This record gives sequence, C-alpha cells and structure tokens, in this order.
Amino acid sequence: MTLNVAQIRDQFPILKRQVNGQPLVYLDNAATTQKPQAVIDALVDYYTQCNSNVHRGAHYLSDEATKRYEAARKTVAAYINAGRSEEVIWTSGTTEGINLVANGVAQRLKAGDEVLVTEMEHHADLVTWQQACKRSGATLKVVPIHDSGELNVDAFHQLLSDKTAFVAMPHVSNALGTINPIKELTAAAKAKGALVLIDGAQGVAHGAIDVQDIGCDFYAFSGHKLFGPTGIGVLWGRYDVLAEWPVWLVGGEMIATVSYQDATWGELPNRLEAGTPNIAGVIGLAAAITWLQGLNAKDIWAHEQALLKRATELAEQTQGLRIIGTAPNKIGVLSFVIEGIHPADIGFILDKQGVAIRTGDHCAQPLMKRLGVPGTARASFSIYNTMDDVEALFKAINKAQMMLA
Ligand code: PLP
Repeated sequence: MTLNVAQIRDQFPILKRQVNGQPLVYLDNAATTQKPQAVIDALVDYYTQCNSNVHRGAHYLSDEATKRYEAARKTVAAYINAGRSEEVIWTSGTTEGINLVANGVAQRLKAGDEVLVTEMEHHADLVTWQQACKRSGATLKVVPIHDSGELNVDAFHQLLSDKTAFVAMPHVSNALGTINPIKELTAAAKAKGALVLIDGAQGVAHGAIDVQDIGCDFYAFSGHKLFGPTGIGVLWGRYDVLAEWPVWLVGGEMIATVSYQDATWGELPNRLEAGTPNIAGVIGLAAAITWLQGLNAKDIWAHEQALLKRATELAEQTQGLRIIGTAPNKIGVLSFVIEGIHPADIGFILDKQGVAIRTGDHCAQPLMKRLGVPGTARASFSIYNTMDDVEALFKAINKAQMMLA
C-alpha cells in the first residue's frame, strides 16, 4: 500500500492557501504540523455543542464534556501503549512535560549525582536539566555526537555509571532528524538504576510509539507536532513513579481534602493536573490521533523516507550545499547550509516563493556550535508533502543561489 497523498492533502484546508502569491509549499513540519479538517471539526464541535467545565458540573453538558475529555485520555494511552490511562498527564506541550518531570525528580537529585543529556538536545530538554543540576548540585554530563549527527553510543555507555541518577534524551533530533536508539540506551541506563526521560516531541509523529516497549520512565510530547492543536501535550510517566511525586501546580481539582491549615492530594492523574485544563485541546488531540490511526504507520514511514531520499539526492547535486546531519537513520528532516548565504536569507527568498522552511539554531544553540554552523536551513516533511514539494524546494534554493551567491 502507498499513502493516498492527494486524498490526505484534501483534508488540510490550509494547504490550499497561496502565500506571497504562490501556492503554499509547507516544509516546516518539525516546527508544527498542519491540522486536518477532522481536528478543526472536533474543536468547533466541542465549542458549539458541548463547551463546559469538566469533572465539576452537575449538568448534562459538563457530563458530556467530561466523557469526551476522559475518552481522549484513553485514546492517547492506547496510542502510546501506556499501561494505564492514569499515566497520561495533560500538559501544555513537551516543554511543560519535561519541566514537570524535573520538578518531580528535583527532590531526588543531590550533589554527587549525574544527569546525562546529549549534544543534540533541544533547549527544552537541555536548559531544564542544566537548571535542575544547578539547583540540586548534581552534575550535568553531555553525551557527544559524531560529526554525522549520530549519537556516540560508546561515549554514552562510558558516561553511564552508578552515579547516573537521570538520563534525558531526544527520541529524534529536531535540528538534524537523527533517530536515536532509545530502546537500547534506555535499557543500559535502567541497568544502572537511572530514571529515563525521552523527549518525544519529534518522535511521536512518524511511527507508532510503545512506551512499554521502549522501557523508559517518562515520554513527553506536544499535540501540535502530531496534527493536533497547540497548547496541549502529554507527559506519560510510570504510575509508581508519578504517584509518589511531589505535586506540581496546586489548586482546584488536584486535591483530596482542604482545610485552612492544610491540604491533601488527589490520585493520578488529577494530582498533577491543577485547574481547568485545555479541554478543547485534549479533544482536538484525540481527534488528531484517531485521524492518524486511519492511516497505515508503515505507509507514512515509507512516504516520508521517499521524500527524504529525493531531497537528499537533489541536495547532493546542489553546488555549495552541505547537508547537516547525515545519520543513516533519520526522519524526513533535511538540514543544510549553503556556502556564502546565511540561512536566514535562504529562508527569506524561499518564503517569497511560497516555500515555508525553518532557519536558525532550532532551539539548539550548543549543537550548532558543536557543528560549527551559525544555524541551518531546515526542510521537514510530513504525510501531506509531495515529490512536487521537494522539487519546488530545490527550484527555490537554486533561485536563492542565483540571487545571493
Ligand atoms: N523537544 C524537541 C526535540 C522539539 O523539537 C521541541 C519543539 O520543537 C520541543 C522539545 C519543545 O516542544 P514545545 O515547544 O511544543 O513544548
């Protein structure tokens, strides 16, 4: 089977837009994905038919909203193969999920402990653990990468020790597209007794995720990179770890009892979800997952890899272009620099031709420094992109070179 891309594209209204007088070629999917009509409809339906607060109203709409909201938790739990749906904690996105983990782990970290991150970390993961180490006196250790953008797995194993209390790593690098061997690395870290967090922001949209199979303790992701709304994300965490954690935000819904003097905390997931949640976002995310489950994961993978392969061929034929990130195991991300042209200028000229990419440091400043580039231009592919989009990208790059080089 192959993906019916024309049929998929038809379901994304934004792809019919013109930008700067040109048909939109959207290649900024690693930043955020576009939304299918099914997700837009779910949001509109929620607000037009059942808008109400959850878990607290004694009326029809609240009951209906609560049912949809909790059904969404089950949808997410099934999608990532969580052992229990209470392990799915709603967050505003990957960043909040990682911060939530750091808040919980902070109580355990102490001077002498080591926290391992990688050289390819997004700031969301790097800065959170760097600051957690600063606060606790633990030492941050950074696992190097090879020049290809692959993780140096030998160095990872060497850096792991009995002092390693925590390991945080990306499933997939947003800047380079590298897919990390997270299952193998997680097993090694668990053998040393460390807790493991996978930053799944880029991993979640490109294939089925099975958190139990990975064996990690936490997996964080954002709905907006998975065809869902912005402002909603998921932290999956092992029940026994989350249940004994200190609470995070305090307020309504997360308590068991309250007096003027003190309070006691509710059960998971409520104890980590204070206040009125992003109900529409939750329902929209579940709609995105349900929609995505209508497609075959292997077909998605094959399609995105075919786009990457063609883009890589054209990149290799483009004089002065250097691909940044050449790991053999990559998602559909092509990061590159062009001799004599600043990435921001590439982005500007491409935009004038309707081609949307991302340029800059990709929230990975230390990684850019490690690779010796000021930033890169990054085209990232998704299920609705076509070979014509890839051709349009390179036509636009050639034009940029003619104008600027
Ligand atoms: N981690 C990675 C690898 C990312 O690519 C991103 C976003 O680009 C994040 C974390 C942060 O995600 P969010 O901004 O949705 O919280």
